[in-house]
Amino acid sequence: MSSNSGIQIPSRLPLLCTHDGVLLPGSTMRISVDTARNMQLVKSRLLKGTSLKSTIIGIIPNTRDPEHDSDELPSLHSIGTAGLAVQVVGSNWPKPHYTLLITGLCRFRVTQLLRERPFPVAEVEQLDKLEQYTEGDTADGELGELSQRFYQAAVQLVGMLDMSVPVVAKLRRLLDSLPKETLPDVLASMIRTSNKEKLQVLDAVDLEERFKKALPLLTRQIEGLKLLQKTRKLRPDDDKRVLAIRKGGVFPGRQFSLDEEAEDEDGDDTALLEKKVKAAAMPEAALRVCLKELRRLKKMPQSMPEYALTRNYLEMMVELPWSKSTTDCLDIRAARVLLDNDHYAMEKLKRRVLEYLAVRQLKSTLKGPILCFVGPPGVGKTSVGRSIARTLGREFHRIALGGVCDQSDIRGHRRTYVGSMPGRIINGLKTVGVNNPVFLLDEVDKLGKSLQGDPAAALLEVLDPEQNHSFTDHYLNVPFDLSQVLFIATANTTATIPPALLDRMEVLQVPGYIQEEKVEIAHRHLIPHQLEQHGLTPQQLQIPQDTTHEIISKYTREAGVRSLERKIGAICRAVAVKVAEGHKVSRAESPTEQHADQNTETKVEDSGIAAPPEMPIVIDHIALKDILGPPLFEIEVSERLTLPGVAIGLAWTPMGGEIMFVEASRMDGEGQLTLTGQLGDVMKESAHLAISWLRSNAKTYLLSNGSADPLEGTDIHLHFPAGAVTKDGPSAGVTIVTCLASLLSGRLVRSDVAMTGEITLRGLVLPVGGIKDKVLAAHRANLKRVIIPKRNEKDLEEIPTHVRADLDFVFASTLDEVLNAAFDGGFPSAVGHPQVVSKL
Ligand code: ADP
Repeated sequence: MSSNSGIQIPSRLPLLCTHDGVLLPGSTMRISVDTARNMQLVKSRLLKGTSLKSTIIGIIPNTRDPEHDSDELPSLHSIGTAGLAVQVVGSNWPKPHYTLLITGLCRFRVTQLLRERPFPVAEVEQLDKLEQYTEGDTADGELGELSQRFYQAAVQLVGMLDMSVPVVAKLRRLLDSLPKETLPDVLASMIRTSNKEKLQVLDAVDLEERFKKALPLLTRQIEGLKLLQKTRKLRPDDDKRVLAIRKGGVFPGRQFSLDEEAEDEDGDDTALLEKKVKAAAMPEAALRVCLKELRRLKKMPQSMPEYALTRNYLEMMVELPWSKSTTDCLDIRAARVLLDNDHYAMEKLKRRVLEYLAVRQLKSTLKGPILCFVGPPGVGKTSVGRSIARTLGREFHRIALGGVCDQSDIRGHRRTYVGSMPGRIINGLKTVGVNNPVFLLDEVDKLGKSLQGDPAAALLEVLDPEQNHSFTDHYLNVPFDLSQVLFIATANTTATIPPALLDRMEVLQVPGYIQEEKVEIAHRHLIPHQLEQHGLTPQQLQIPQDTTHEIISKYTREAGVRSLERKIGAICRAVAVKVAEGHKVSRAESPTEQHADQNTETKVEDSGIAAPPEMPIVIDHIALKDILGPPLFEIEVSERLTLPGVAIGLAWTPMGGEIMFVEASRMDGEGQLTLTGQLGDVMKESAHLAISWLRSNAKTYLLSNGSADPLEGTDIHLHFPAGAVTKDGPSAGVTIVTCLASLLSGRLVRSDVAMTGEITLRGLVLPVGGIKDKVLAAHRANLKRVIIPKRNEKDLEEIPTHVRADLDFVFASTLDEVLNAAFDGGFPSAVGHPQVVSKL
């Protein structure tokens, strides 16, 4: 039925299969091209062709899911629309693709597929005549009547639209000038129709049938508009949003499936969303907001940026666990066993956690304090949090707060911003999908502050049981009940936690571990865990206790066990290589073979693993050195103390306790004091205090070398090594005095003594904090004697008995006692000069 006059389309057409929608003759549509075949077509036909004919291509609606686009050409729909490519736009982002602007010319039927590659080309038969329509009134009979009815309905529809919109005015003019036969196609692509309906119009080759198919669609649109106008009267503001006509009538980038029952693709989408909104069981307020947004969404053209925003918002809302929760399965006895199984030592912390859980069991609506675990890194704070979630049978989610300095990180961005999103709390809830998870707020001490507001203030609301049942995220803009969430915080130090936040929390100190505890933790937890992680078995790798001791003392210096775990991981990796080699070459010679124990008795062939003969590989002293390299911390403390003017202090850092050397030297000069090693103000003052005290007591301690002032003609330089670390605090006072006393007297400080304490100008020793961590650090460094202020004696109770037994404690209340304990044979007496008895 090819036409005899008017424009003819070529009898062979390249075919472009599109998922984007259905192009009808007389309408224009944007098509996104990214499949291999279509890309080829654009490249070799549209971009290279020069004639007008080369820009005519056949558009075939492809009903298959683009995900399954394979090499195979899908079975083609037999009817398509020949279209003129008006514009081709190429882009490389996010992946190479083209966007075509195509104007539909006429229907065609595929009579024979000529080739499939690189793009399909078919022999086609033109079905519509082009530019050959006569004026509509020549049609008679049923067709004439139908076309007249259709025309009137179209006029009615346009009449209902706002004529001040230029597109509408143009459409009105078009209605009169277009031949009536073209109206079904043109209007079907303009009004709100689903792809399935458009396809029916496309398939209606017979004009009469086409009118019959398109007329109900038009009538439906008119009815819809009437309804809208009714509501519009109630809310005149929304007038401009009512835009039933979409230019081009296509939704770029949308896919469709003909199997779907829904009659309206767009409506279908929002209807699905509406269903989800209703099923989300959200509270009244949230539901109201959602329904309102949904109403707005329905009226919005999809091309509006706000459409995507609103959709995202609604999707977020329906995904939130408004009323989804897990049931707690709390059994205190089981909880105790689980906590004990998961963690060695940390008795105090476990006891408190059990108390907390017990109270929760008795009273489920407990508005108790938020637990905050404070301690050095790697002591198991996070992992206790995880265990708590497990004992309760709740979901666990960790929110890292380190470096967060923007309020909106917690509370979300308002929806007016582009790219706005909810805060971490709401996001976390969406991730876990229930409203009663355990949230671990990690590193609350590292919250920052910036111009964007104080995140700590936002956290206050989250953590306050009185307020958090109606926590309002800026993005959601409706309250969400956080009262079921169990918050646990962790921090390295309480010093930097904002006071108001600290006030909401119950601080539980998690101190560092002593060597023996670390060995136990390593053998009970870390080694089995690392073996499993590396796919090894105890039959393949054995780490004896002695080796663990050596790793702890020579390769790590930390309060927790994280770097110990890493070192064990490194050993596992090294052994994994050996085991894997043994896999391939059954008699592989291992370089560490000579170090490995030939413990053939325990050799067990693990299922499927062909263990080389030297299994298990036992890591001894030499193997350890092979794998981890030379010891990192072997500098003997005593080596540092071979000259007068060096003393060991004890310092507390967020990473746990540490020993700290203080060095002093003197040279000719004018009595000046130089301090180096990044000291804070308090530390500098301690140094001045120490010097003043020594000068005033120089005679008593025979430090003055005859002259009245020991510093006469001398400059003193005090240095605190590890200059990259800022040090501050009063507790180095006694160490500075001891160090200077050693320098001025020329005597060596005992190499196994460490000390801590604040001093006064009159030579008194005042108590300081962090005694437990400091004592553990001294124990780690193998020191024997620890001098601490007398008033800190009570703090020793927290220290494990066997550590206490290893150390010799001196409780000093005056500097005199400190000096006597720090030097072999006491301080002033050993010189052999006539003694001056201390007045202090
Ligand atoms: P933190 O949060 O305190 O920095 P983590 O909880 O991440 O430390 O602990 C680091 C690792 O040490 C984890 O693998 C954890 O299982 C392990 N660990 C720490 N303390 C213990 C312990 N007492 N018993 C068993 N494993 C522990």
